[in-house]
Amino acid sequence: MPSSPAETSSSIYPTYNRAPISFESGEGVWLKANDGKRYLDCAGGIAVNALGHAHPHLVDALKSQAEKLWHVSNLFEIPGQKRLADRLCQATFADRVFFTNSGAEALECAIKTARRFHHVNGAPERVNILTFEGAFHGRTLATIAAGGQAKYLEGFGPKAPGFMSLPFGDHDALRMAAAEPDVAAILVEPVQGEGGVRKLPLPCLTGLRELCDERGILLIYDEVQTGIGRTGRFFAHQNAGGAEPDILATAKGIGGGFPLGACLATEAAGSAMTPGTHGTTYGGNPLAMAVGNAVLDIVLDEGFLEGVRDKAILFKQSLESLKDRFPDVLEEVRGTGLLIGLKTVCPNTEAVAALRTEGLLTVPAGDNVVRLLPPLTITSEEIREAVQRLENAFAALSENKKSA
Ligand SMILES: *Cc1c(COP(=O)(O)O)cnc(C)c1O
Repeated sequence: MPSSPAETSSSIYPTYNRAPISFESGEGVWLKANDGKRYLDCAGGIAVNALGHAHPHLVDALKSQAEKLWHVSNLFEIPGQKRLADRLCQATFADRVFFTNSGAEALECAIKTARRFHHVNGAPERVNILTFEGAFHGRTLATIAAGGQAKYLEGFGPKAPGFMSLPFGDHDALRMAAAEPDVAAILVEPVQGEGGVRKLPLPCLTGLRELCDERGILLIYDEVQTGIGRTGRFFAHQNAGGAEPDILATAKGIGGGFPLGACLATEAAGSAMTPGTHGTTYGGNPLAMAVGNAVLDIVLDEGFLEGVRDKAILFKQSLESLKDRFPDVLEEVRGTGLLIGLKTVCPNTEAVAALRTEGLLTVPAGDNVVRLLPPLTITSEEIREAVQRLENAFAALSENKKSA
């Protein structure tokens, strides 16, 4: 018997305000809903579907691994882990990798690694992690403390100690906090995703690196959303050139839809995590590694990231011209690569709903921003189609306003 969305979701925790649509299949940037309507997917599972839906290379990798071996414990060697870790290290600052199932778990590993590093280096008092207002690092008890946002902390008992949130862009507050002898690490998103696509100016990453070196503090980047090509570089901080972290957490795009995350670290930081200090049952299992390696086959292929940067320019330019035409709807276009934010004049949730009516899926973010996170494989033609749908929705929102 057909049932309403409210009825079907009644046995599920009511933690999400879900849109009343479910999907039957996907191909590339397109999703087909159960009612037959097609949507252009610029939500991308919140920056997860980096290669779109049902990418043939990922489907092949998953299927052929599924016929061989799904899971073995980390008590045994898993060759796919070594291969993926080697490739991640080769393409970045890192020397060591720990695989997880999610972004929050990658952050948990990053936080533990930073504290453990100081512990084994004779400074066990260094436990505090400095973070920034508007940050989002996940929903576990430690990562809501790291994010520091009251709306995520409320009702869940005492906030985990050892995290201090600083105002975004307040250099004096940062210098003062970093001078304390108990600081272990600074944790920052090179571009805040959930916080509203707020980019840290590139010189700030260099400044953070210098401050950390001066004080013996470790620098942790949260690249869960910005990693794996999203910003047109393999990792967003690589846009900045030299400012490399000691530890980096990533997830989302790395599995292309398969639950997968990773914590990357330098030799010094990673080797502090000796046998027995950390673990996971599922993290890095053969199925996940087959898919992660297949994602890298494509993202690290010659010319792929350059193509992302070119497409991002086309998208940005078209959006800027929409801003000029609909100043009463669109206030600002922000972002790097294909992590794009549209600050709207109307409530962002209203814009997201209007776009959905036009068959374009997007994601709201903080600071009244609508996020566009299309698959990195989106074509120029599909970008033009997305812009057409944005234009239709903006025209409708602008018209509503005039008649109101
Ligand atoms: C999504 C996200 C996380 C949390 O990832 P989960 O896989 O949901 O645990 C952490 N940090 C950032 C920047 C994110 O975008």
